[in-house]
Amino acid sequence: MENLVILGASGSIGQSTLKVVRQHPGRWQLLALTAARSVDTMLRDCLEFSPRFAVMVDELAAGELSGRLRAHGCSTRVLSGTDALCEVAAHPDADSVMAAIVGAAGLPATLAAVRAGKRVLLANKESLVMSGALFMEAVREHGATLLPIDSEHNAIFQSLPAEVQGNLGFCDLAAAGVSKILLTGSGGPFRYRDIETLAAVTPEEAIAHPNWSMGPKISVDSATMMNKGLEYIEARWLFNAAPEQIQVIIHPQSVIHSMVQYKDGSVLAQLGNPDMCTPIAHAMGYPQRIVSGVEPLDFFSVGEFSFIRPDDRRYPCLRLAIEACAAGQAATTALNAANEVAVAAFLQGGLGYMAIAGLVERACSRFGGEVVSDLAALRDLDDRVRRQTQQWLEE
Ligand code: NAD
Ligand code: MG
Repeated sequence: MENLVILGASGSIGQSTLKVVRQHPGRWQLLALTAARSVDTMLRDCLEFSPRFAVMVDELAAGELSGRLRAHGCSTRVLSGTDALCEVAAHPDADSVMAAIVGAAGLPATLAAVRAGKRVLLANKESLVMSGALFMEAVREHGATLLPIDSEHNAIFQSLPAEVQGNLGFCDLAAAGVSKILLTGSGGPFRYRDIETLAAVTPEEAIAHPNWSMGPKISVDSATMMNKGLEYIEARWLFNAAPEQIQVIIHPQSVIHSMVQYKDGSVLAQLGNPDMCTPIAHAMGYPQRIVSGVEPLDFFSVGEFSFIRPDDRRYPCLRLAIEACAAGQAATTALNAANEVAVAAFLQGGLGYMAIAGLVERACSRFGGEVVSDLAALRDLDDRVRRQTQQWLEE
C-alpha cells in the first residue's frame, strides 16, 4: 500500500481526494490528515480511514478531536500546530503528499514535502506564486516529483510530451515543439454581467461558481479571474514558460480544461466534466490511469463550445497578475498576500468587490520592486504586505 498524507483534508480538494481513495480499497493508506480547525469533518474521516496521524493547526480543536477519537476507541494520534504539518509532510513513511491547504499558509508544509523528496500532488498554487524559482529549485535539488492538481495545469501536463512531463520547471517548451500554452477559464459568475454593476456584487453571488464547486477563497478568485492570474504564474513556473508562451482564453463551458498549441498547428487539449476528482485521480495514479468516479463527458448535453477574450475592465486582477509575473518574485508575493487579505475582507463584508483589485494594485506598486533572494526574505515580505494591506483596509 502507498502511504498518503493529505494536507488540507477537510477542504474541497481534500474531500475529493478521499473520494478517489475510497474507490481503490487496498491501494492507499492514509498516513496523515490535516485541517485548520474542522473537528466534525476530521472526526468522521479519521473514523473511516484510521490515519496514523491527524493534525489540527488549532490547539483547542486538536484537544477536542483527540478526546472524541479516544471515546470512539480510535488510535489516530492527534498533533497540533504548524510544525506538525511539516513533520507529517516530510514523514519518512510518506510516499505521496496532497498539498491542498489554501493560501500562502500552505507553503511551509508543501515545501517540507518537497525537501523530503516526496511525490507532491500540488493543489496549493499560492505556494508556487509566492516562492516560484526557489520552490522549483528545491524540487530539483531534493529529487521530489511534482504532479499538478489544478485542473488547467493537469490538463496542460497531460497534453505535453513525456520529456516535458519528466522535467517540470526546467523543460524547454520550444524544443519540444510547443508554441503556446492556452490557459482556459470559465470567466466566473460575472462574465456576462454589466460591468457598471460589478461594484455591488455580494459575497454570496461571488462564491456561486457556475461550473465548479470549490472553497470560498478560490471561488472569489475565479470571479475576479485573479485565480487565472495565479494560474498564469503557476504555469510560468511549472512549464518554464515565457510570457509570449502563455495565453488566457475564457471558455464558459469549462469542458476544455486547457490546451497546448504546437508549432505544426496542432492543438492538444484535455476535456472532461468539471470535477476535480479527474485531475486528482490522474495525478494519484500517474502514470497509470485509474477510476475517478467522474461521469463520462456527454458531448450532446454540452452542445456548444465558445471562447471569449478576457476584458481588462471586467477582470483587472488578471492584468495585475500578468504584470506581477513579468515584474518578478517580490511582485507576485505581494500580489498574492494583498489578494488574500482583500478577499478575506470582501467575504466578511468589509470591502467592495471591485476594491479587491485596487488594494492588490497598491500593494504591487509599493512592494513589487523589492529584491528577494531567499525564503526568509519572502516570508518577511509576505508578512509586511499583509500588515500594510490590513492597515489600508482600516483607513
Ligand atoms: P478549502 O477552503 O475548501 O480548504 C482548505 C483546507 O486548508 C482546509 O482543510 C482547511 O482546514 C485548511 N487550512 C485553511 N487555513 C489553514 C492554515 N492557516 N493552516 C493549515 N491549514 C489550513 O480550499 P480548497 O478549495 O480545497 O483549495 C485548496 C487549495 O487547492 C487552494 O490552494 C486552491 O487554490 C487549490 N485548488 C482548489 C481547487 C478546487 O476545486 N477547490 C481547484 C484547483 C486548485
Ligand atoms: Mg484551476
